[in-house]
Amino acid sequence: MLYKPEENGGHVHHFLIHFDKATNSYLNKLIRSSLVDNKNQVEVLQKDPNSPLYSVKSFEELRLKKPLLDGVYSMGFNRPSKIQETALPMMLAEPPQNLIAQSQSGTGKTAAFVLAMLSHVDPNNKWPQCLCVSPTYELALQTGKVIEQMGKFYPEVKLVYAIRGNKLPRGVKLQEQIVIGTPGTMLDWCAKFKFIEPKKIRVFVLDEADVMIATQGHQDQSIRIQRYMLLFSATFEESVWNFAQRIVPDPNIIKLKREEETLDTIKQYYVLCNSKEEKFEALCNIYGAITIAQAMIFCHTRKTAGWLAGELSREGHQVALLSGEMQVEQRAAVIDRFREGKEKVLVTTNVCARGIDVEQVSVVINFDLPVDKDGNPDNETYLHRIGRTGRFGKRGLAINMVDSKMSMNILNRIQDHFSDGYDILDTDRRVPRT
Ligand code: ADP
Repeated sequence: MLYKPEENGGHVHHFLIHFDKATNSYLNKLIRSSLVDNKNQVEVLQKDPNSPLYSVKSFEELRLKKPLLDGVYSMGFNRPSKIQETALPMMLAEPPQNLIAQSQSGTGKTAAFVLAMLSHVDPNNKWPQCLCVSPTYELALQTGKVIEQMGKFYPEVKLVYAIRGNKLPRGVKLQEQIVIGTPGTMLDWCAKFKFIEPKKIRVFVLDEADVMIATQGHQDQSIRIQRYMLLFSATFEESVWNFAQRIVPDPNIIKLKREEETLDTIKQYYVLCNSKEEKFEALCNIYGAITIAQAMIFCHTRKTAGWLAGELSREGHQVALLSGEMQVEQRAAVIDRFREGKEKVLVTTNVCARGIDVEQVSVVINFDLPVDKDGNPDNETYLHRIGRTGRFGKRGLAINMVDSKMSMNILNRIQDHFSDGYDILDTDRRVPRT
């Protein structure tokens, strides 16, 4: 019961994880109110290693057109982010060079390529010059908003969405300089309907390549246009790398490592119980303590999460529930309220919360320990959920609820995994149950 995989077996489950990757990256965009501070060094691989490497500390140094500089400042940006320092000079160079850039979500990639697109457009030419492909409809709209914001003092530049539902009469030629859309519609507009002349495209942006290649069918659609290519990704697994190499010829490459997460500043406890009900009881006993700050409670299944949220509410506690069957907008609203502190406790499932960053949480409760689909400890999720990076290095508390030999074994294995270089779990301490 406890280790039953999320209620969708076999390949359906597989699909949902992929689907969730796109959803999560959208949710992360929505909840991200500010830049993720990253102190790591940017790693640069230049196509031509002899050409000088420029990096800028201010937007002035980029010699942007006045309306664009105004646009950037009006968004409240004071200086380029870590990745923008190096990426922007490359992206704005003449002649432009192909670029593959990877950094975690929230580090300023979107803002960078939006600025690059707006800079390379010639507003006097009334045809598409920049294409941007996003993995989902929602992300396309979101990026469109950034283009509109940043370009608000540059009204000559127009934007059109190549997304499902946006049907144009056959034979039209687009007047807009920037087209943003999803792979299928974008390809139709170029190849089938010829609304866009690929030869006239100066900048081609492939956003969220990692999500794109995880989404079936999008892989091949993205490779038909070859011009000045900018490819962005939040992760750089081998699959992304292979894909990028195939479609972006002679690229410059910029990588920014994720800030290391550590368990150093986290106090970790476990609570021994015999059943789900006992875990609930134990949770109620410590409830007063955990709600001093904000807490997230992770369950393995939607069913447990729903049950737990219900039981906690019945006890008179105010909790929010984030679950996989909710609409994306509903999920975004829940996360938003939580982020704003309107709710103190968020109950969610392991799968639903994967990849969602809610950094301000200082108490994490594993009502069920994170395990992979084979029931083995999921160390990475454990670390990502509980660990803190430099910026959010404040102290935190993690409570692991154990209710069987099996879950004790999982916890021991997680502890073994992190004993090397991390503080081992504080196994001799227990949260008192009074
Ligand atoms: P990514 O595409 O890597 O996820 P975004 O470009 O969406 O990152 O940026 C994340 C957040 O940081 C957004 O709210 C964005 O407005 C903001 N941001 C981007 N660049 C800067 C900057 N140079 N200074 C301040 N905030 C920035």
